[in-house]
Amino acid sequence: MDRYLVFGHPVRHSKSPFIHTLFARQTQQELEYGLAEPAVDEFAQALCTFFDQGGKGCNVTVPFKEQAFTLVDQLSSRAKRARAVNTIKLTDDGVLLGDNTDGAGLVADLKSHGVTLADSRILLLGAGGAARGALAPLLAELPSELVIANRTHTKAQQLAAEFCDLGPVTAQTYELLAGPFDLVINSTSASLQGELPPLAPGLIHADIAIYDMMYGATDTPFIGWAKQHGARQTMDGLGMLVEQAAEAFTVWRGIRPGTKQVLRELKRNLGVI
Ligand code: NDP
Repeated sequence: MDRYLVFGHPVRHSKSPFIHTLFARQTQQELEYGLAEPAVDEFAQALCTFFDQGGKGCNVTVPFKEQAFTLVDQLSSRAKRARAVNTIKLTDDGVLLGDNTDGAGLVADLKSHGVTLADSRILLLGAGGAARGALAPLLAELPSELVIANRTHTKAQQLAAEFCDLGPVTAQTYELLAGPFDLVINSTSASLQGELPPLAPGLIHADIAIYDMMYGATDTPFIGWAKQHGARQTMDGLGMLVEQAAEAFTVWRGIRPGTKQVLRELKRNLGVI
């Protein structure tokens, strides 16, 4: 049976085996999907061993995405832009192809919630790996402007400079942000520490769409805060997780699984519904 897995550290919490097992059942693909948690300095060896032993493909998550980028033979254009790899496929020619499906997953999830990206003014909070992966797919949707704000402002400036050939992207400090924005995407890891990015509450209004890449059984701190300040449409990153997985599954198997039912099952599994 074709073997896939997700590499991460820690990875035991990962929902990827659950999601891909449902995708495989739905599309009648024979495969198994597991977890691998190598020590941080043993990822390269573990990756080699997996493919030497017949593995067909893998996902890569924190903290290995940047390292995976340096280990594959070929990169997709979106992985080159993201400088990180979350999906690896062993091609029929024996080539390890590195891809990045995170940004495509985000855009697919935003669209599935009916969020309009074309001509919209988007604020992206954070300038880490997730922001980097999101930029090219977001700019491809032709927003009127995309502003990046990050705690360390120089990183936002660097990202804006790197992606400005793809569209109207600029960097601004949190203090000097001027609304109105149509959509705010929180790609910071602040919620992981129970913190909030230092965004002025005045930027939140009833018609704004709020997206937090983090997810959980209850509202993330950022979503709770945005609701408190009047945001009516809020979304967490669970849909992005399922959509990026669907994109990876398509890369591996050449068949696109449906995501709605799988997302519902995942929510039930997490106790959200
Ligand atoms: P990184 O560590 O690469 O980047 C973290 C970013 O958050 C940096 O820009 C950092 O700013 C900022 N940050 C951290 N703490 C704070 C704080 N207290 N206040 C303001 N800014 C802060 O992480 P990633 O980009 O890889 O991941 C970010 C988030 O996205 C995580 O929560 C992750 O779980 C989520 N994610 C979700 C996915 C999904 O499928 N739903 C997929 C990928 C990621 P600075 O530069 O100043 O340090």
